[in-house]
Amino acid sequence: MIPVNEPLVGESENKYVMECLRTGWISSEGHFIHDFEERWAAYCGMSHGVAVSNGTVALEIAIACLDLKPGDEVIMPTFTIISCAQAVTMCGLKPVLVDSDPHTWCMDVSQVEEKITVRTRALMPVHIYGHPVDMDPLQELARKHNLVIIEDAAEAHGAEYKGRKSGGLGDLGCFSFYANKIITTGEGGMVLTRDAGQAERLRALRNLCFRKERRFYHTELGHNYRLTNLQAAIGLAQLERIDESVTKKRWMGAAYTERLKNIAGLQLPIEEPWARNVYWMYGVVLDDVFGMDAVEFARRLGEQGVMTRPFFLGMHEQPVFQDMGLFLDEHYPVAEHIARQGLYLPSGMTLTEAQLEQVCEAVGRVLSGKGESH
Ligand SMILES: *Cc1c(COP(=O)(O)O)cnc(C)c1O
Repeated sequence: MIPVNEPLVGESENKYVMECLRTGWISSEGHFIHDFEERWAAYCGMSHGVAVSNGTVALEIAIACLDLKPGDEVIMPTFTIISCAQAVTMCGLKPVLVDSDPHTWCMDVSQVEEKITVRTRALMPVHIYGHPVDMDPLQELARKHNLVIIEDAAEAHGAEYKGRKSGGLGDLGCFSFYANKIITTGEGGMVLTRDAGQAERLRALRNLCFRKERRFYHTELGHNYRLTNLQAAIGLAQLERIDESVTKKRWMGAAYTERLKNIAGLQLPIEEPWARNVYWMYGVVLDDVFGMDAVEFARRLGEQGVMTRPFFLGMHEQPVFQDMGLFLDEHYPVAEHIARQGLYLPSGMTLTEAQLEQVCEAVGRVLSGKGESH
């Protein structure tokens, strides 16, 4: 089987982790944490980085540090991972959804303004599968309505919008460093900000709201969302290789597109003129003409030795939120279509050209009807 997404771990990771073991700095103190925070923030054009245990809690404390009131609203795409909507509900706030752009699969920014109410406090754009959201219209709405922008850049390390790095485009930038992300620490995440006070608040929320002046004296509740020095050591080594990793992903994107572009009815990822897509995952969406949904497509590709993953299912279609009385009778046709017809092809950091060729041949066979086993 050609794996769907494998990380690449090299010599420097080994060296830095061994340094942690040799010196005994294995918990959440140690220079790798600070180096990783500082250098990742700088790479993204932000001033402060606060490393946390994963991307989901990065979103959670990014929202929590805004000190919003229960029932305040955050606008986000329906087509994303559950972490986004979950982080909002965990903070006692209300997620408000918008549909996807049919070409980039990111939130359709032209549908945001109609969702703004007197309770709206923040916008949460999510850069889907490595392609950035069109940020300028969101910035304009944020200025006009006094909203905070929390970017979820967990799928877009190194992606650019008009020459600026994702994660540095809003007020707060959130990342995941899970094993399948472009930079990984195994499990990990980070929140970026330009505001020193906000950074301090994020650090407090990460570490049980211990107070500097009087330890074990608490005026509020926080979390233990700390990252370890061991994980940050891996992250620093990965960060030192990011140009190479982004080049690899962009090569993969171009190579897939070159080989698949002539299959009529197969929608491929795009790169808007203002964007630098990092093709975190190479997604494809099947036209209804094939009479096959993504589940069936995935099954047939599996028979040909190609592993795939389905697209997200929109938040408005999640029973857990329906049970909470959220998104009842809401419909988002683009998100519903791509959720049913989309999947992503093997996109791992270790994917070879020969494997990529095999994947494209398998796709060709299945879609020409020659890949049917029964
Ligand atoms: C992976 C991901 C997350 C969550 O990150 P974890 O580290 O797995 O908690 C959040 N948002 C998006 C868009 C992601 O792809």
